[in-house]
Amino acid sequence: MNNARIAVVGGSLGGLTAACLLRDDGHDVTVYERSPRELEQRGAGIGFLETSYRYLVERAGLALGDVSIATDHIRYLARDGSIASDAEHRYLFSSWNMVYRQLLEHWGSERYLLGHEMGTFEQSNALVEARFTRRIGERTEEHSVEVDLLVCADGVGSASRRTLQPDAGESYAGYVAWRGMVPESEIPTELAAALTDAITYYVYANSHILVYPIPGLDGSVEPGQRLINFVWYRNYLAGGDVDDLLTDRNGERRDLSIPPGFAAAHHVAEMKATAAARLPPQLAELVERTAQPFVQVVYDIDVDRMAFDRVCLLGDAAFSARPHAAAGTAKAADDGWALAAALSAADDVPTALAAWEPLQLEVGRNLLERTRRIGRRSQVENSWEPGDPDFIFGLYEPGR
Ligand SMILES: Cc1cc2nc3c(=O)[nH]c(=O)nc-3n(C[C@H](O)[C@H](O)[C@H](O)COP(=O)(O)OP(=O)(O)OC[C@H]3O[C@@H](n4cnc5c(N)ncnc54)[C@H](O)[C@@H]3O)c2cc1C
Repeated sequence: MNNARIAVVGGSLGGLTAACLLRDDGHDVTVYERSPRELEQRGAGIGFLETSYRYLVERAGLALGDVSIATDHIRYLARDGSIASDAEHRYLFSSWNMVYRQLLEHWGSERYLLGHEMGTFEQSNALVEARFTRRIGERTEEHSVEVDLLVCADGVGSASRRTLQPDAGESYAGYVAWRGMVPESEIPTELAAALTDAITYYVYANSHILVYPIPGLDGSVEPGQRLINFVWYRNYLAGGDVDDLLTDRNGERRDLSIPPGFAAAHHVAEMKATAAARLPPQLAELVERTAQPFVQVVYDIDVDRMAFDRVCLLGDAAFSARPHAAAGTAKAADDGWALAAALSAADDVPTALAAWEPLQLEVGRNLLERTRRIGRRSQVENSWEPGDPDFIFGLYEPGR
């Protein structure tokens, strides 16, 4: 089929990729995003796997070199800053902001409805009715739409998942990622050079940090104008330890992350002091120079189903895997590519979703299992030797 009326809920990378693909196939698609304004860079770098850039290159006609940065080595440092291991391996990195901007530009603003938060939805044999609250300044307005297919791409905190899969597994992994970015122009030239031709790791007791270059905030990929991004996994006990970390500098308890500029001063000070005490000097310097470090809590989210007749869960709304495979964006895109193909091959939506679900469940489960294993080996068992190929990024398996 090629003429379904489709509502995509969630206008981030998963929702936008699916929307573009479904529109390309002739469907009548609208994206509903609850944020009243265009999304902003909350985070930083993304590993740019083949599936993550496939739409931008194949359909939007962008050149990879304009939207990403290549590194040619996987390098591990020793505590004193010397090189413990160095292997040739090409990775591409981009930034969340770059991918969002490019997808949104390609999609356009007309069918990208900001300030629309989906509340409930109901389906009958023939259609789905989704109800939205629309925010217009201080005012709100309720309305509903009837569609043939509702795609829930509402992310890691998905309310749709909680409705459709109230027993879905959601568990704290036992650690968080401290993240941050520093403009390469703000660090000594030699240090910038050493941290931009490779992904650089340091692995130590129950922790690891990785560093790689990403495009600048203005999207620049030119040397001198990029950012150097770090992701540092650190264990925090569930309960009081994490509660305290997630209480921001204004005393507000956050849920899944602390955005840049909001981490409590004592946690930032502790993090930087630990960097100085435990990390190789060049990485400690990078952390020290980070103006606004931020925190992402690491969760495992697991579902039994992704397809519910005329409603589906896609991207992080379905599975949310630990970031170790750098595959969150790629998984969301993969769900979208497969969904478009399934709809093209079927005569009706329920048949398409039933055909789409098994493989996407498998992709999600495999990713979850692999990233759990990496997390366990790194943060608990300490069985990660520099250069271990198990830790290579990939959606389906290391390197792929
Ligand atoms: C602002 C932002 C910045 C991010 N930065 C990074 C980053 O730097 N690095 C990285 O690796 N990952 C980042 N991520 C996560 C990354 O986008 C996802 O892990 C991955 O791309 C899968 O995306 P997704 O579209 O499935 O879910 P998400 O990216 O979580 O998007 C879900 C979207 O749904 C919207 N939404 C939620 N509920 C409703 C509702 N009821 N009605 C309407 N809309 C709703 C949310 O506002 C959000 O825009 C970021 C996500 C966001 C939203």
